[in-house]
Amino acid sequence: MKSKKVSSLLPPVQPLLIVISGLSGVGKDTVLAKLRKSKFPAHISVTSTTRSRRPGEKEGVDYYFVTQDKFREMIKKDELLEHATVYGNSYGPPKQPIQKALKAGQDVILRIDVQGAATIKKKVPQALLIFLITMTLDELEKRLRKRHTETPAELELRLKTAKKELESIPMFDYVVINREGKIDQTIADISAIITAEKCRAVQRVCKL
Ligand code: 5GP
Repeated sequence: MKSKKVSSLLPPVQPLLIVISGLSGVGKDTVLAKLRKSKFPAHISVTSTTRSRRPGEKEGVDYYFVTQDKFREMIKKDELLEHATVYGNSYGPPKQPIQKALKAGQDVILRIDVQGAATIKKKVPQALLIFLITMTLDELEKRLRKRHTETPAELELRLKTAKKELESIPMFDYVVINREGKIDQTIADISAIITAEKCRAVQRVCKL
């Protein structure tokens, strides 16, 4: 008798909605840029924001830079998966490309702040939530100072918020330390988490 392949008995591997969150300045953007550069096999969501473009940022790659009116219209038409005001600017990932990628069986990676991660968890309880941290808050402060994108008052606010946001760690599935100068290790940890998730006996089903 011909033996049946074990894989044919398993439920199909499901696409994941992966949320990469963490404190402001922890290196979420660097992680995303690295994933993009390495042609990581996932759809990397691009958020719409009302914030003005920083030097070096590319439209449609780093963000979609939109006006307040356009952002309000997108909310009204229910086109955003979630939206939040972060340090005075609005941010929200457009829903349609995410739905399309998941439908096609592709994993989706979303980079969002902690409040956005909480919203996603409510809307899509099976989403995979990864929290990025630095080894210490001093390291975070150093990184924020180095990028020179905040005024001293803004920097103070981000550090104060960071201390509070650390309390939300239990909401996440995994915590990854983004060590100074060790971005490859961070990427390896994230890849390992995704690989482990693909091996789960009971798969997450991420439906929007
Ligand atoms: P920045 O303006 O420095 O690029 O981002 C400021 C904060 O907004 C960061 O903590 C970043 O993670 C967060 N952010 C970026 N995109 C989104 C999004 O789509 N949703 C939410 N909730 N936060 C976002």
